[in-house]
Parts: sequence; C-alpha cells; structure tokens
Amino acid sequence: MSINHALRTIDVIRCAGKAAHTYRTAQHAVRAAHDEHSAAQAQLHHWNAHIHATRGADRASPGRSALRAAIHDRQEAEHKVRKAEARLQRAAATAQAFRPALNRYPTERLRRRATTVLLDRLADHPVDLIRAADLIIIQTSSGKDSLVAMHRTVAAAKAAGCLHKVRVMHCDLGSEWPGVPQLARRQAERYGIPFLLVTPDGGFLGMVENRQMWPDAQRRLCTSTLKRDPTGPVITTWVAELGLDRQAIVLNVMGVRGAESASRALKARLALDPRTTSANRLVLTWNIIHELSEQDVWKDIADNGLEYHPIYDTGLERLSCVYCVLAGPDWLILATRVCFALELSHPETFAALERRINHSFKQGVTLNAIIAAARMLDALDGPITWRRGDALRRHLGPAAADQYLATLTC
Ligand code: SF4
Repeated sequence: MSINHALRTIDVIRCAGKAAHTYRTAQHAVRAAHDEHSAAQAQLHHWNAHIHATRGADRASPGRSALRAAIHDRQEAEHKVRKAEARLQRAAATAQAFRPALNRYPTERLRRRATTVLLDRLADHPVDLIRAADLIIIQTSSGKDSLVAMHRTVAAAKAAGCLHKVRVMHCDLGSEWPGVPQLARRQAERYGIPFLLVTPDGGFLGMVENRQMWPDAQRRLCTSTLKRDPTGPVITTWVAELGLDRQAIVLNVMGVRGAESASRALKARLALDPRTTSANRLVLTWNIIHELSEQDVWKDIADNGLEYHPIYDTGLERLSCVYCVLAGPDWLILATRVCFALELSHPETFAALERRINHSFKQGVTLNAIIAAARMLDALDGPITWRRGDALRRHLGPAAADQYLATLTC
C-alpha cells in the first residue's frame, strides 16, 4: 500500500467512524422523539375522554385547560419526531457513503486497530511520510526533547527535499525560565525555518488569577487551554495559506518520549489527532523521538552541537515553567534556589498569587513552605552554583562536555 493510499484509508476509516456515531445518535433521537409523541398522544386521549364524560364542564374548567396543554404538547412532539427523522435520514445517507468502510471495519475496535496498524507502518518511513505531507509543524518548548525532535525532523525533511514544508511554533506562557522564547527562535533560525511565537492572553499567571485555582495533574488547563487550544487556529491559517483544493496532510511534531512516564510510554509514534482533523486537513501527531532514552537525547545534543537551555546545567532535568504544577517538592525547592542564584522574582510573585487566591500550589504543599525550605538549604550549604556544560558532564562525562562547549564557541 502506498503512503498516499494509507493516508486516504486512515481518513476514510475516520469518516466511517464519525458516520456510524452520527447514525447511532440520530437513531436514539428518533426513539426519544417517538416516546415523547406517544406520551403526549396518551395525555390528549385522556383529556378528550375526560371532557367528553363531563359534558357539562364550562370553558374554564381545569379539564379544558389541560386538554389545550395536551394538544400543544402533542404538536411539539410531532415537530420533534419530524426533525429527528430528517436527522436520521441525513445520517443514513452519510453512513451509506461510507458503507464499504463500515462493512470492512464494522466496530470501533476494528477501526482503531486498522488505523493503528496503518499509522505504525507510516512511522517506519519518515522520509516518505514527509514527502506525502503538505505541512510539518514542530511544536517546541525549546527544551532538550523538542530540540532533538526538531533536529531529527529537519534532517528527515532535508533528506526528503522538503525543508520548505517545516515551520516551528512556540507557546510562551510567561512563566518559563528567562530566555526560553528567544532560544526557541534561535533553534529554528539555525535551520532557516519560519518561527511563530504564540502568547496566549494572560499567560499562566493570568489563567490562575482568573480561575482562582492552580491547575493540577487532573485538570492540566495550562497545557490544554494555553498550549493546545491555540494550535488549532494556527493550523487553520497555515493550511489556508497552502491554497489546496484537497485535504491537506499535516504532521504535528512533538518531543514526547516514552521513557518519560508510563502514560507517555503508551503513546504511539504516529497518531491521528481527531480534535484538529477535519474535511480539509488530516492532522497526525508525530512523536518522532518516542523511542529515545534521555542518554540518547543528550548524545544527539552533544554530537550535533545543539544549543540547550542553561537551566539544565543547574540539575533541573526539565525546561518547564519556573514552577511546574506537576513537579515534586524537591524539584520545586531546587527551582527556588536557582531563582535565588539568578535573582529572579518568581518565588515572590508566585507565592503572592498563592496567598491572594488562597489555594495552595499543590495539594498539601504551599510555595511559602517551598521557599522556606530553599532558604534553609541555602543557609546550610550556601547558594547553588553551576557551570555551562554541567548537564552534559552529568550525562556523558567531562570530555563530551568540553568538546560540546568548544563546538558551541566555534
Ligand atoms: S510546565 Fe508544568 S505548569 Fe507549565 S504548562 Fe507545563 S504542565 Fe503546566
């Protein structure tokens, strides 16, 4: 099966799934409307019989007003039945259009399985996949994983002769470590690819202030509302700029690695993004470095002289918001000590917000307690220090770090 055929099949299966769902929902609506109609009809019969039995009842009797209400209910129910039946007809016509796919993949399980198999095959041929794509978006946090994901995507795009399809997007929440957006831009400029900086209204702190609550692992609004939601309109604009008269194939590259967590291990290398896919674009999330270990990532950075953010040299292993709601207390204490060393105002700003909204940063952990613990450790051990290249020294040894620093200087 050719790449284009596989992509087309994935979309047909997606549409078949949607058609089956719409048809089922319409069937439910028809059944519900018929039930409502029968109930209204029964009421009408009841009041008709009542009025008939009490012939002498005057016009203002309760029986007559109940009859009028029943007539009205029946009319409403008839209207609902007509609407639901029209909806069912439309859904049936759509399902009919996808009948071959529905016959072949009749259940949701089969459709999901077939899509997974096809996507897995596509992920094995990155260069062909890039050739088939119309647009390749790299969503970068400018952290180490995004950096390597970008490098590998660019290498594959160059091999395919398709570097012109690649664009980079970075979402600035205003709560990251200093220099993050600038670094994201430099990382894109290194390859000469267009860069877009997205700054959601209010950023991270604005969102917390509005909600009077910090996000948490269950309600990660910082990633869903602030990072994921702005992606849709950007894709819409970029796809429109392509001016295609057919469905565009969009690859959305992310620096997600399976080794990072159990939930990330379950993610596929290539997955259909049903939220942003539509009739005019098929969007695939491409976790291009899903199989790499942390060591692999640092090796790629060292071997290719890629510029990583100095925050990794402090011992913090993720380039996140200065205070990340998913981080544990040790991480938060270290982040606070780094803020002290860099004379950043984040500890006071975040702690003041915590007091204002009267909601602790993490369940059972206040930033006041974190800051106090960081102060105590600084008093005991002195301020923390680090040197450029310490992240590489930790992961690959001093020789690799020295070589990297020499490359970077060049
Ligand atoms: S780094 Fe943490 S706090 Fe910041 S957006 Fe991501 S999950 Fe939310």
